[in-house]
This record gives sequence, structure tokens and C-alpha cells, in this order.
Amino acid sequence: MLPASISSTGKFLSNMKASKSSTRIIRMAISEQVKAIIRARDHNRCGYCRSLQMYVLGILEIDRIIPKAVGGTDDEENLWLAWSLCNNYN
Ligand SMILES: [Zn+2]
Repeated sequence: MLPASISSTGKFLSNMKASKSSTRIIRMAISEQVKAIIRARDHNRCGYCRSLQMYVLGILEIDRIIPKAVGGTDDEENLWLAWSLCNNYN
């Protein structure tokens, strides 16, 4: 194997690792404890269509009512459950 190809593969892998870990940090911003509180409060219903978790195709995820990009917070009052279909059409 040529040294040049080894070094470029190594660089590629380290870039993959870096982007993966930064995504994880964003997703972990809301703690599991807060997620459990939101699920209990909303009775496992989607915030948009009020569908129960058991009737939707997919997992209800914690979603911000006011997106973080426009000043929304991670406070409980700004969080609800949403499944991907409703979330994408928001
Ligand atoms: Zn919904």
C-alpha cells in the first residue's frame, strides 16, 4: 500500500468521527429525565395531531414548539412530542 493512500483514508475516518460526535452532542441537549417528564405530561401523544404513540408509524420524538433557531429554549414549556411526519411539515 502507498503511504499517501493510508494517510488520506485516515483523514477521512477522523472527519467521519468528528461529524458523528458533534451530532450526538446536539441530540443530547435535552436530558432523558426531561424527555420522560414531557412524555408523561403529554400522555405519549403527538403535539401536532394528538395521535397516540401506539397509532403512529414511528417513534415520537421530543420537539421544540419554538425552534431553537428563532430563540426557543429547552425548557419543558417549549417541548412536546412529535413524530417525524408532523415534524417535517411544521
Ligand atoms: Zn402528529
